[in-house]
Amino acid sequence: MTLPYRGRFAPSPTGRLHFGSLVAALGSWLHARAAQGRWLVRIEDLDRDREVAGAAQDILATLAALGMSSDETVLLQSARQPVYAAALQRLAAADAAYRCWCSRADLAAVGGIHPARCVARPTARPPAWRLRVGKAAIGFDDRICGHCHQSLAADVGDFVIWRADGVCAYQLAVVVDDAAQGITEVVRGVDLLDSTPRQILLQRLLDLPTPRYAHLPLVLDAQGRKLSKHEAARPVVASDPLPALRAALGFLGQPIPAADHVGDLLAQAVRGFAADRIARPTEAAIAAARNASAQ
Ligand code: GLU
Repeated sequence: MTLPYRGRFAPSPTGRLHFGSLVAALGSWLHARAAQGRWLVRIEDLDRDREVAGAAQDILATLAALGMSSDETVLLQSARQPVYAAALQRLAAADAAYRCWCSRADLAAVGGIHPARCVARPTARPPAWRLRVGKAAIGFDDRICGHCHQSLAADVGDFVIWRADGVCAYQLAVVVDDAAQGITEVVRGVDLLDSTPRQILLQRLLDLPTPRYAHLPLVLDAQGRKLSKHEAARPVVASDPLPALRAALGFLGQPIPAADHVGDLLAQAVRGFAADRIARPTEAAIAAARNASAQ
């Protein structure tokens, strides 16, 4: 039995909604609506240092002006630390996770990837927690990018699931929340393609279902860099939503309806939606996105 479709958009409140995040929002919304599914919004506000005051409310208001609002209560990651802590405890109890005091500099000296045996010795400072990846090699079929495969030991190494500053890391939080929200389909930017095997490993270790994945091409600037909220990426103008929606539909390879009201434009876009018109990101674009997200 296939579960009813539940998709999501999970912005980090590090700035206003720009064209790149609009593409991710609209791409996930169209997939959900074309499958008569539900679409949820989650604010990924764990990283308090990167958060911009008011950005979460601003993103939600802009999405509403663009005709896209969460079908259920918006989940705030900052309110969910105890749930993530329980997941960490479970992994630690199964000896799938361990405390680590290695610094970036320690790891840079051994080639950048954690060698599964800590380089640094315990100190009085609080540790991070890493997941043991063992020999895990994970493959999955992405709806847009096709078959993807990654050897976690060779490409990633034991990775941080709980930061030394006491905050749950993105990889663990996203897995716990996708399951808590019953997400069946994750549609997001291709910069997160190579996080997906880490997330699938965590789902397996926590006995959580693996959703289907579709990674959208990224909007890159003229230098081939991802448009980030930190750069001068122009925010979407909430008071004039149609040009941005039309441009995002065009970027996703979809027909652009002539309608001049947001509701009509979106309704026609859903009727005309064909997932196979979305361009498959090229290997070069995937590599550029990966570099951009690592910076
Ligand atoms: N919060 C992440 C971002 O804004 C997206 C996470 C996800 O879709 O899994 O880049």
